[in-house]
Amino acid sequence: MINLILFGPPGSGKGTQAAKLVEKYNLLHISTGDLFRYEMGNNTPLGLEAKSYIEKGQLVPDSVTIGMLKNKVDANPDVAGYIFDGFPRTINQAEALDNLLAEKDLAVDKLLSLKVEDEEIVKRILHRGKTSGRADDNDAEIIQNRINVYKQETSPVFDYYNKSGKSMLIEGMGDIDEIFGRLDAEVSAI
Ligand code: ADP
Repeated sequence: MINLILFGPPGSGKGTQAAKLVEKYNLLHISTGDLFRYEMGNNTPLGLEAKSYIEKGQLVPDSVTIGMLKNKVDANPDVAGYIFDGFPRTINQAEALDNLLAEKDLAVDKLLSLKVEDEEIVKRILHRGKTSGRADDNDAEIIQNRINVYKQETSPVFDYYNKSGKSMLIEGMGDIDEIFGRLDAEVSAI
């Protein structure tokens, strides 16, 4: 089993790189953002609740997010490993993930954090917004809010896993294949 957290600010390329890692290592990609968008697309009660936060660039409450993540992991036990993308985004979520994995005699192997400058993030998200159909990608104020939430609530998760030496900072600027090479070097060393 290889269990990875793909980490970094919104728009840092986590989804793009997760797809490449899945191809090479055959891991299950679990993106909480994608799970919320699926629920929103189907107008489920969970989707409707999540929507009110996502559209403001705020985090969906941990109680909702952790339950959804747990269901997804529990429903897919026979995999080569997991790539968690967009989760954990709070210390509380990190503790919940560790507990969930520990119950299965598993643990997070590495947290790989993509480092991208703020200016580049805003540029990438606005560009993505032209085709993504995501309301949270089209408004500079909402994007800034997401960046602020990342700095305040999410970045402590890097330090949390750094205490056990699991956090790695990866240069996230440059060519997609070049960035993948940097991530791959860390994953192949597990
Ligand atoms: P990005 O990485 O570009 O911000 P995501 O698809 O990961 O996009 O997330 C979109 C939105 O979904 C977030 O801004 C947040 O509102 C919500 N969300 C996703 N994952 C979580 C999480 N782990 N906890 C709380 N909210 C989340």
